Amino acid sequence: MAYLRFKAVEEAAKRQPLVPEAPSNKVSDYYKSASFDMDKMKQSLSPDVFKKVKYSIENGKKIDEDTADAVAAAVKTWAISHGVTTYTHWFQPLTGSTAEKHDSFFDAISGIEKFKGSALIQQEPDASSFPSGGIRQTFEARGYTAWDPSSPMFLWGTTLCIPTIFVSYTSEALDYKAPLLKALEAVDKAATSVCKLFDRNISKVTGSLGCEQEYFLIDKALHNSRPDLVMAGRTVFGHNPARGQQLDDHYFGSIPPRVYSYMRDFEIECHKLGIPVTTRHNEVAPSQFEVAPLFEEINVGTDHNLLMMDVMRKVADKHNFVVLFHEKPFAALNGTGKHNNWSLITDTGVNLFQPSSSARENLLFLTFFVVTIKAVHAYSDILRASIASAGNDFRLGANEAPPAIISVFIGSQLTEVLNELESNGNIKIEKGDNMYMKLGIDKIPEIILDNTDRNRTSPFAFTGNKFEFRAVGGSANVGQPMTALNTIVAEQLSLFKEEVDGLMKDGKEKRLAIVEVLRKYIKESKDVRFEGDGYSEEWVKEAEKRKLPNVKDTPRALDAYLVKKSKELFNKHSVMNDKELEARNEVLLENYIMKVQIESRVMGDLSLNHIIPTAIAYQNKLINNATGLASLGLDNTAVLKVIEKITEHIDAVKSGVLDMIDERRRVNKIEDSREKAIEYCDNVKGKYFEQIRYHVDKLELFVDDEDWPLVKYREMLFIR
Ligand code: ADP
Ligand code: MG
Repeated sequence: MAYLRFKAVEEAAKRQPLVPEAPSNKVSDYYKSASFDMDKMKQSLSPDVFKKVKYSIENGKKIDEDTADAVAAAVKTWAISHGVTTYTHWFQPLTGSTAEKHDSFFDAISGIEKFKGSALIQQEPDASSFPSGGIRQTFEARGYTAWDPSSPMFLWGTTLCIPTIFVSYTSEALDYKAPLLKALEAVDKAATSVCKLFDRNISKVTGSLGCEQEYFLIDKALHNSRPDLVMAGRTVFGHNPARGQQLDDHYFGSIPPRVYSYMRDFEIECHKLGIPVTTRHNEVAPSQFEVAPLFEEINVGTDHNLLMMDVMRKVADKHNFVVLFHEKPFAALNGTGKHNNWSLITDTGVNLFQPSSSARENLLFLTFFVVTIKAVHAYSDILRASIASAGNDFRLGANEAPPAIISVFIGSQLTEVLNELESNGNIKIEKGDNMYMKLGIDKIPEIILDNTDRNRTSPFAFTGNKFEFRAVGGSANVGQPMTALNTIVAEQLSLFKEEVDGLMKDGKEKRLAIVEVLRKYIKESKDVRFEGDGYSEEWVKEAEKRKLPNVKDTPRALDAYLVKKSKELFNKHSVMNDKELEARNEVLLENYIMKVQIESRVMGDLSLNHIIPTAIAYQNKLINNATGLASLGLDNTAVLKVIEKITEHIDAVKSGVLDMIDERRRVNKIEDSREKAIEYCDNVKGKYFEQIRYHVDKLELFVDDEDWPLVKYREMLFIR
């Protein structure tokens, strides 16, 4: 029974690091060598064409067919010179991963390699198998992909990959990228207009994103011997190892050699693609690690995060590892998140979240800082929905994880600044006064990184010159939370601007008008600010008092996309229309249902086919032992006790699984997706998962180690 397990353990233990080969000792020699970036365009296009492309990219404008023809010809030549034979539109359907459909450059009719601008601009993948939440049925049968020139094309293997959006023929978004691009446009517009209150020279604001990606690395043989990891990406069973993460010795510890080689190798591949990965280290849990790139423009940063995950998967395979991005692959160990470091930067080079030594600039900083906090308070439900997934439910709101309450941490120094600004409300400011001094915003400490980075329990933290959205799941397409965040901030910025304009119209001096609105926002959004331990029971109670939502599961969190306020918001900024929101909601619910269903099936199969037979075999051994002892007239009470325990757990697993299967049958008949998802959440997962697991994990403790069929936690996590 346990043959496969021991074979896997043996295989894993024998492995040696696979030393990677870098094209050169200097990264700068090969950085971006596989990316058709601006420099390459400039080199290979005529100045006229390049100017047009650059203009289109910077202003989000369509590229005409002639220009596209020129780009296509240039990129074809470049790609073929690198041994590339095919091209594909690379897009991000709502399944959560990326998709491709390869076409050959070679045209058999003419006998030469061809790549026309039209093929660069648009393609029609057979989209019928991608989820659309009913959009295609309602409108048109087909969807198409359209080139996004703002994200560089890249080479992967022998294929040229072209980043694209994916939309239906009636132009409803069927992906994560299309709404993101619109949200970025909205935040640019709103932020620029607010910036103009301070500096007329600012004409564009760009969002930036740096994703800290956590992951687990498990030996391939060990991984493949666990059907739950293979099918569901997480272990549904497995008793805690004697040693978990309690020693805290893994964090920032030295990286194991095999892992180190793997990291080096995928970093080399990332660098070729122009993904600026810079940091690597161990994480808290055993076999958990983190990689972070330098931040980039949000759309490119999002593509790069997705691409990086893909690279990491493929390179892992070469090193006989499997990389796990699932939010909670192992119970009782830290989950896997993806901190989204986010800021807004002007075309004059100012990071709007960077406090400054100049008081005047600090009013600009405070404006964006306070408006963001206010936006998070006003729309925390949308942020929560944007990170909802079956996997992330194990991280947020489950009993060993942080709660699903969205709050903002800003650190003590900035709390003081906001408190002072709030209470200085009645100060009268005369002409010639130093307003900044009177309001106490003349000296915001410029360097507050140390102070603000301490709180690791906050889902949304200010860390010195950026906000960090930390509740995002490890496997997520960050396009989703980034769409939500940038849209709500765009909305709050435009409301802010309207209010300030209103006050100015009534004759208020500009800076005083700004301060007045900020003070109001500080008061109104105070409840969302929390500086304490976000994982504590007290916070859950306190948040309830403050009426902050604490939505623990995906099916209910997703409701936020459909309330009137959200629909109005997304419509107003042309990010998503009602149809798109409804479709998205539907797809996400279906996705949730499928995930829980798969886990439930895996649990059933493992229990019935692996666990119970093993436990019964062992039970029989013990029964033989007990009767043997009795026939010799020896005391067998201890054995009987163990038999009793094992029998109890076997029965509990059996009846639990059978009841769960019945429940699934009932729930599967439900038509309405929301209702079905809630039933899956409450009555399949909620009632049975932990209960079955409890008894299986107990059996793991009782049954002879020689017989246990599943690779154990200690083997998965400590052999590498
Ligand atoms: P940690 O949170 O672990 O201390 P770092 O301070 O190294 O991590 O930064 C994490 C990420 O934040 C990196 O990807 C970094 O590039 C990114 N980052 C830094 N400044 C900004 C910014 N202004 N906007 C967006 N991301 C940023
Ligand atoms: Mg961080």
